[in-house]
Parts: sequence; structure tokens; C-alpha cells
Amino acid sequence: MKQKKIINRVILSFILIISSTLHASESVVIDSNKIIEYKGFSGQWIVNSSPEVLESAIKTFSTGEKDVATVNGPDFRTEKTVFIPFSQSYIAYVKNRASCGTITVGANEFIWPIANFDRISSSFGRRWGSFHEGIDIPAGRGIPILAVSGGRVIYRGYAGNLGHTLTIEHRDNMFTRYCHCSELIAKEGDIVKQGQVIAYVGSSGNSTGNHLHFEVRYGDFPLNPLDFLPFSPCVKEAQYMKKLD
Ligand SMILES: [Zn+2]
Repeated sequence: MKQKKIINRVILSFILIISSTLHASESVVIDSNKIIEYKGFSGQWIVNSSPEVLESAIKTFSTGEKDVATVNGPDFRTEKTVFIPFSQSYIAYVKNRASCGTITVGANEFIWPIANFDRISSSFGRRWGSFHEGIDIPAGRGIPILAVSGGRVIYRGYAGNLGHTLTIEHRDNMFTRYCHCSELIAKEGDIVKQGQVIAYVGSSGNSTGNHLHFEVRYGDFPLNPLDFLPFSPCVKEAQYMKKLD
């Protein structure tokens, strides 16, 4: 069976290092499944959620404040997302770390959470100066939302801007999250099968219309759901590309 390697060694190490050094793993966001080349530098985007997170990232990973300013502009401290160019020693460190690992995802391990959809209205990544941690799939109110893979429901509740939300834990520290629902069906602790109806589409929370906001996470880190879901002709080619600007 065809297998997809979703997360390369480098990024998984980065995840582990970030979560163990910053103690703010939920506020550091990864934009891609590999170290990105941007304006001649190798590095990663992070969400500038606080001055401490930014300073810590610069100190831990970067080639120095000067390069951070070269890439992002002199006012980078006021930007919502900042590109952190990695130092050579940090890249070498990441590559050599014993904790490096890979997640391999089987071709049919994930299905789309909406059985029939015609487009995604927003992709993963930078959006309007902030960071969109999932994809948006427009669908009518009350359309069933399916578990993309088997797992256990670990959260069911109203999550502020995200509205009625379910989180499912899958194998190996992977999670999926389903937001803005009109109604939640699965209960916390439920073991759900792939394809099971777990909720219904809605527009709860901070939402401009009926759609599903869908996330895939490794621990707290959002990953691009399009890397996990089967190829769909309803997704535009440009949406499969990773946009940096
Ligand atoms: Zn969204």
C-alpha cells in the first residue's frame, strides 16, 4: 500500500525541542512539514504570541537578531508571525538528535471529514497577518461531520471563537479538531471509528457562515491537514502549495 511520509525527521525534532524548551508549545506554530527556505535563509515561521516566546526562539534557534530583522524587517517585534532563520549549529543539532522520528500515514488512514464538499475556503497558513491553524470547508448547516480516522474523543465543548468543538486523539500523539459545529454528537471518552458521524456543521463561535474548521495536530502543533487527507480535485492546486506570503 502506498504510504505517505508526513513529517520528516527535522520537523519532528523541532517540535520536540520547542515543547521542551519554551514551555509554551501551544503558541509556537509550524507552517510546513520541513524547514523552509525563505529569502535565502533556512528556518521556520513562529507565531509571535508574546515577547518571551519571540526572544526565546531567537536565542535558541536563530542566526541572530540581525538576520531576523533582515528577513522580517526592522519592526519584526510587532509582527504576528516572524520567520526565524536557523543557525547552522541548530540545524546540525536538529539533524543529529537521537529523538528524531517520522510519522508514516497509510493511504487510507484519513478520510475527508465532509463526505461531499466542493471547495475549501481557507487553507492552512498565514492569513490576514495571523496564522490559520486548519482548513475551512464550507458546507450547509446540519451536514454530518465524520471522524477522519479512528480514535478517542478527548474534548467536547464550547471553545470560545471556535464554537462547539470536538477533539479526537489518534495514534502516536496525533489529534484532529472539528470546530464551529451546530451540534456535537460524540461524547468525551467515546471511541469512534473512521467515518462515524460525530457532529453537524454549523457556524458557532466566531464564524462568518456555515463551515467546518478542521485541524490536524501533532501534540499541540498544528500541521497542514492537506498533507493527511486524500487528494481531492475540489482543492485547488494553489491550495496544495504552501504559501509564505
Ligand atoms: Zn478556519
